[in-house]
Parts: sequence; C-alpha cells; structure tokens
Amino acid sequence: MDLPGIAASSEKAHSPQGLEQARESEEILRVEELRVEFHFPDSKVVVLAGIDLDVSMGEIVGIVGESGSGKSVTALSIIGLLRPPGVVTGGRVLFCGENLLDLGADEMRAVRGERISMIFQNPRASLNPVFSVGKVLREVLRLHSGLRGAAARSRAIELLSDVGLPDPETVLARYPHQLSGGMAQRAMIALALASSPQLLLADEPSTALDVTIQYQIIQLLSRLRKDRNLAQIVITHNLGVIAELCDRVAVMYAGTIVEEAPVGQIFDETRHPYTKGLLAARARTEGAGELESIPGQVPDMRNRPAGCAFHPRCAFATGICRTATPILEMSGARHKVACHRWKELA
Ligand code: SF4
Repeated sequence: MDLPGIAASSEKAHSPQGLEQARESEEILRVEELRVEFHFPDSKVVVLAGIDLDVSMGEIVGIVGESGSGKSVTALSIIGLLRPPGVVTGGRVLFCGENLLDLGADEMRAVRGERISMIFQNPRASLNPVFSVGKVLREVLRLHSGLRGAAARSRAIELLSDVGLPDPETVLARYPHQLSGGMAQRAMIALALASSPQLLLADEPSTALDVTIQYQIIQLLSRLRKDRNLAQIVITHNLGVIAELCDRVAVMYAGTIVEEAPVGQIFDETRHPYTKGLLAARARTEGAGELESIPGQVPDMRNRPAGCAFHPRCAFATGICRTATPILEMSGARHKVACHRWKELA
C-alpha cells in the first residue's frame, strides 16, 4: 500500500541540490560484484549474481523488488549476518575503504555493533522478550560507549526521545509485548542508533505497520539522515516508501540489479520493463484505474531462466532475451539499466 500523500515521483520533496550534496559527499559503502550462493547438500544455487552498489554519507539508497529478488540477502551479506545455506562466494564489500569480507568474526561484530546497524521488518520479534527496553539499551550503551548507571539511563532516555517516543522514561521499563508495533520499531531504531552508526540498513522498516505509523517511521528515517548525515539502505517492496524517502534506487530481480537511478528518474524515465511493471502494479491512493499486476512469478533460483531472467514475464521479450544475459549499462548520466531493448522501448 502506498503511503498517504504520495501520488507520483515528480511531486516528492527530493531537491536536486540535496541529491547532489549526497553525491558529492564521501562514499561510505561500495559493493563490488557481490556474489552469494545457497549451498545445499546436493546443489549450489546462485542467489546474488554479482551486484554493484554504492552509498555516500547522508544518502538514502532504496532497494526495491518482489520477495525473492535478493534484497534481504544483499543487506545480510553487507552486515555479515548471512547464515547457511547462504555463502558469499565472490566480490567485495568496501566500507570506508575496508573490505568487510576479509574481517574475522570478532572484527565484523565490532563493525556491526559500532559502525553499521540494521533494523528489521518485525521489531517485536527482533527485541528480546525477556528484557525491558531500558535494560537492552543500557547494555548496548555500556558495550559501545562505556556508559553506566545514571549516565546510561540518561542517554537511553535521550535516544528514545530522539526517535519520537512519548514518555521515554515509561518506555524504558516496558517489555516488547507491551509496545505497539510503531513503538517497537522506534525502540529498535533507538537501539540501532545507540552506537552512533555511520550506516543504517533498514529491511522493510515500515511494512508491518499501519499506514499512519508507516508514514511516521519514514519521516523519522528522513530526519535521521538530515540530523546525523546517516547513510541508509532501505529495502522495501513499497514504491511509496522509495518515493518519499530515497535519493536513489536499485531495482532487483532474480539476484541482479536490473535498473538503478535517482528516484525521480526511476519514476519519470522508467527504462526496464520490470520497473514499469512494478510502477503499474503499485496501489494508487488516487484510486485512478485498475490495479495491474506483473504476470507470472519470481523465478525459482534453482531454475533461473536463461538469458534475461525476466523474459518469461516480459511482454517485450524477443529471441535474444531468451539466450543472452543483458548487462547493466549506463543509459544516462546516472541511470543504469539491464535490458536488451531499453532504447527501443524508451
Ligand atoms: Fe524484457 Fe528482453 Fe528487456 Fe528482459 S531484456 S526486460 S525480456 S525486453
């Protein structure tokens, strides 16, 4: 469901100046040719087929696509939380110039605790049910800032207040089951911020919430970028979230990025037939027209279609699409697309 007040990309509040500021600032993350496989006893399945992605300080990059496109695997690989059967089999994840894939478990834990944080779709499930919010926050602050006692409590209240939780002193004493979904997500964001990270990965941060709370969480993430220059990767299937929050977006399909561009261009100069399908399928708050859907299903990665993986669902597929894999190529100054026919279809 789109967020209220989000009608079309060109109406969103991204200023070109803001976008350029983000681009001109320091690059904090560069993912190069990241390849992930699922290793089963009798087979190996490629789930990320060598993706490239970069994020600058203060920039919010969205990753959008249907379930099974590889969005979450990308984030988990970046932050070192990919679990078996997932195995990173190639590429680099350069964070401030250091390849995170070269780090040992302890070093990666330190990066994850202090410099990169992640929030998930279901905040209540991510919080430990037997600890109060205050206990968890104070523990994080002790580990990462050395704060204890009254100083830790004071900082915890400050963090809860920063994420817009009313009456933070009361929230400190609450357990996850005593929080609404929106409160739990704010508490998760406060936890993620406790170590003052440089990069926040947000995996469907507003999906489980009702529309009004979704909008508030999006506003909060937007404010964090502004106030803290916090770089973010936001994973979502909701193009309303992308339109409202992100500077740039990568569209994923079957373990590859098929289109990447500044948000305005994705909406206004859409190149890839899959992206066009996603846009046509988005719920319209205006209520205009029937809801369209992309025919067919995301492919089972054990039987990834040859050539362009989207070809079984694409109305524009021709012979070459069934045999040759399109590469992600520049189609404009900052616009990339992986489609054999993007020029004809433009
Ligand atoms: Fe469609 Fe062919 Fe483009 Fe793939 S390469 S999106 S099948 S036109």
